[in-house]
Amino acid sequence: MSEAKDILAFTAYTLGICYYLLELTNHWPKVGLISKPRPLEHFRPLSQLHKLRSKFFISGYLINYEILPILGIGLLINCGGVLLTRTFKNLLFLDMVGTAFSSFLLGPWYGALCGLLSNSFVNYVMYPGDDADKIIFPWSLVNIAGGLYWGFVVRNRWFRNYISETHASVRSHLLFVLVYGVLASIVLAIPGAFIQGVVGDNAVLEDSTVASTISALIQGFCSFAHLGSVVCRWLTQSIWSIPDKAISAALAVTIVRLGFPLYERELIHTRPNETRPRDGWLGPIALILAYVPSLFIFIKVDTYGFDKHYVLWLSPLLVLVLRMIYLVFARSPQNLEEHFRTRSGIYDNVVKVIQTNVGHSFFKRLRIATILSTLILIGGLLLLGVFRHNPELFQVSGNFLLVTCGMLLAIYAVQLALGQNSLVTGSMATVSEIQKEAVTKTLGTVPSKEEQPPTVQEPQLSDLKEFKRGKVRHLFDIGDRLLIVASDRIPVLDCEIDTTVPGKGAILTKLSAFWFSSLKSANPHHFLTTDFSQPPYDQLVLPAEYKDRAMLVKKLDMINFEFIVRGYLAGSAWEEYSETGKVAGIELRRGLEKNARLDQLIFTPTTKTDTGPELPISFEELADNLGLNCATELRARSFALFEEASEWCEKKGLILCDTKFEFGWKPGAQGMGDLLLADELFTPDSSRFFQAADMVKGHEAPSWDKDIVANYLRRVGWTPQVDKSPEIPSEIVSTIAKRYDEIYRLIASPPTN
Ligand code: ATP
Ligand code: MG
Repeated sequence: MSEAKDILAFTAYTLGICYYLLELTNHWPKVGLISKPRPLEHFRPLSQLHKLRSKFFISGYLINYEILPILGIGLLINCGGVLLTRTFKNLLFLDMVGTAFSSFLLGPWYGALCGLLSNSFVNYVMYPGDDADKIIFPWSLVNIAGGLYWGFVVRNRWFRNYISETHASVRSHLLFVLVYGVLASIVLAIPGAFIQGVVGDNAVLEDSTVASTISALIQGFCSFAHLGSVVCRWLTQSIWSIPDKAISAALAVTIVRLGFPLYERELIHTRPNETRPRDGWLGPIALILAYVPSLFIFIKVDTYGFDKHYVLWLSPLLVLVLRMIYLVFARSPQNLEEHFRTRSGIYDNVVKVIQTNVGHSFFKRLRIATILSTLILIGGLLLLGVFRHNPELFQVSGNFLLVTCGMLLAIYAVQLALGQNSLVTGSMATVSEIQKEAVTKTLGTVPSKEEQPPTVQEPQLSDLKEFKRGKVRHLFDIGDRLLIVASDRIPVLDCEIDTTVPGKGAILTKLSAFWFSSLKSANPHHFLTTDFSQPPYDQLVLPAEYKDRAMLVKKLDMINFEFIVRGYLAGSAWEEYSETGKVAGIELRRGLEKNARLDQLIFTPTTKTDTGPELPISFEELADNLGLNCATELRARSFALFEEASEWCEKKGLILCDTKFEFGWKPGAQGMGDLLLADELFTPDSSRFFQAADMVKGHEAPSWDKDIVANYLRRVGWTPQVDKSPEIPSEIVSTIAKRYDEIYRLIASPPTN
C-alpha cells in the first residue's frame, strides 16, 4: 500500500513540475529561451546564431508544449504500469508502456529519457529499503535500450501507415507485435543478460510465477546444452519478456492511435509529403545528464563491480557520444527548424480553437475551481499541522498539492487533444475562423467573392460507352478513338475530394490542346481535335457544357509508368533531398535551397496504378521493364519536351518547375515511331508553375498550380485517407479558377517578341 502511495506521490510530483513549467511559461516575457510559436511566414534563412540554436534545438515552444507534457504523461503511464503490475502479482510487467508511448511520439532520445527516469527514480522511490540501489538502478539500461529501440524502429513509413489506418488488417497487427514486441524483447534482453550476470539472477524476476517457470525451463535446457552463460541468459530473458514488451507496445500504440491525434499526426511522423524532422542535440544531452546520477551509483556501490564491468555501465554514454559525433557531422538540421515553425503555426491554430470555444471556459472554470479548493484544503491542513504540532500533516498537504498538479496537467492534455480533433474533423463553429486565416495565409490576400460558372463533377454521355474514369478525366469509347472529357474535380494528395473548381476542366483541355499542337517535340502524340464544329468531327453531338472540355484522341495501350522531369527542387523532391541529399536515388549537389534551380534536368519516373500510391523507380528498373531502347527514348523525349516548354514559359514570365508525362503504344506498334505522347500536357494539374517575379532567393514563392489546395489542407491539418473529404472555402476555389485561367491566358497568348 505504501508503495502505491509513493508511486502516486512521485507521479503527481513529476506532473506537477511539468504543469507549473507549462503554466508559468505562458506568462514568461517572450524573449530568450521561451519563444512563442511563430507563424510560418516569419521563417527566414537562418542566421549563424539561429543555426547554432537549431543544432541544440532549444525551442521554448517545443519544451513547453510537446516534450514536457508527453514526457510527463509517459512517466505517469509507466507509474500506472508499475501499480498494475503489483496488483496483478507480476503476471506482466507493464512499466514500459509510457516509455514506448514517449518513443513513438518523441523519438528515441526522449523515449530513452522517459525509460531511464521511470526506472531509476520511480523505482528508487518505490523501494526505499537498504538494497534499493542494488536491485533497481542497473535495469535502467534495459529501459534506455527499450526507448532507443522503439524510437528508432518507429521512424519508418510502415509505422506511420499502421498508426493512421482506421481499419488495420490482422496482418499488420501481427507484424506490429512481431517488430515492436517480439524483436523488442530480443534486443532488450541483450543488456538484460549482462546485467543479470553482474547483479545476480533473482533481482526483479523472483516472484513472477509465469516468468520464473519459463526461466527455469530454459535455464535447465541451456546448462544441459552447455551454451555460454550470457547467451543462455539472453535467450531466457528474450522469451521471458515477449508478453510484457508486446503488450506494452500494443497499449502504447492504442493510446497514440485513439487518444492523441495531435501528437500522432504531427510529431515524429509529420504530415504526409512532409520531411521528417531529424534529431537535435537536446535529447541526447538531456539523456546524458539524467544518466550521470545512476553512473555515480554504479561507481560507488561495490555490488556493481565498476572496475571489472565498467564497459557495461558506461555503454549508454558510449552510444550517446557516438550519436553526438554523428550529429556534428550530420547535414544541417535546417529542415528541423523549418518543420517546427510549420508545426508552431498549426499549434497556434489549435490553441485558438481551444480558447474560443465553449469547452474552453468549462476547462478554465474546472482549473480555477481545482486550484482554489486545493489551496483552501492545504491551508487548512497546514494550520492544523501548526496547531496540533503534527509535522506529518505538512507532508500530506504537499502530496495533495502535487496530486492536484497532476490532475491539472491531465486536463491540459485532454484539452489539446480535443482542440486538435475539432480542427481536423471540423465540428466546431470556430473552425471557420481558422479556415479564414488559412485562406489568407495560403493566398496572401483575401480575394473578393465572385459569381462562378456552373461546374461539372461527373461527365456522362448517354450515347457513348465509358472506357475509363480517371481521377479527373472520363474517357468514352469511339472505336479506335477516345473522347476525353475533363471534369472540374481536384485530385489532391492522391485523394479525390468533393470540391470542384468551376471551369477547371475546360482550362485543362484547352491548355493540353495548345501544347500538343504547338510543341515540335510533342510529336508523335495522341491528340486529334477539340474543335467539333468542323468535318469530320462535326458528327459527334456533344452537350453544350462539355464542348470546351472535350478532346478527341487516338486510343492507346498506355505504359504503366509516369515520366517526371524536374528542373527545380520543389514539392516531394525537396522533401526527399533535404532528408537524404538525393532525389529518387539521384545524388544532387549539397547545399541546394528549397525551389532552387537544378544544375541539370533530372528524370524521376514512377509507377502508375489506379488506386495505390505512385512509387519512384530508377532508370535501370524502368529499362528492365520496358527495354533499354524504349527507356532511353522516353527519357530523351521527356527532356526535349521539358526544355521546349520551359523556354516558352520563360518568355511569359513563368517558371516551369517540374512536370509529369504519360506515353502509350499505338495498337500493333512496330517501333519507336508508334510510341505516342498521351494524357494531358503541361497543365497546372500535371506541372508546377511559379511566377518568375516571385522566385526571390530564400522566400516561399506562392504556388500557381494545384499545390494551392494541398498547401491549404496541410495548414488546416487535414490528413488524406483518414479524414473525410474536406470543405474548401470558396475563396480558395475561386483563386484556383482564376490562376488556372491566368496561366492558360499567359501561355496561349502569342509571344510579345
Ligand atoms: P493523375 O493524372 O492524377 O495521375 P489519372 O491519370 O488516373 O491520375 P486522369 O488523368 O483523370 O487521372 O485519367 C486519365 C486516364 O486516361 C489515365 O489513366 C491515362 O493513363 C488514360 N489515358 C490518357 N490518354 C489515353 C489514351 N490516348 N488512350 C488510353 N488511355 C489514355
Ligand atoms: Mg492523368
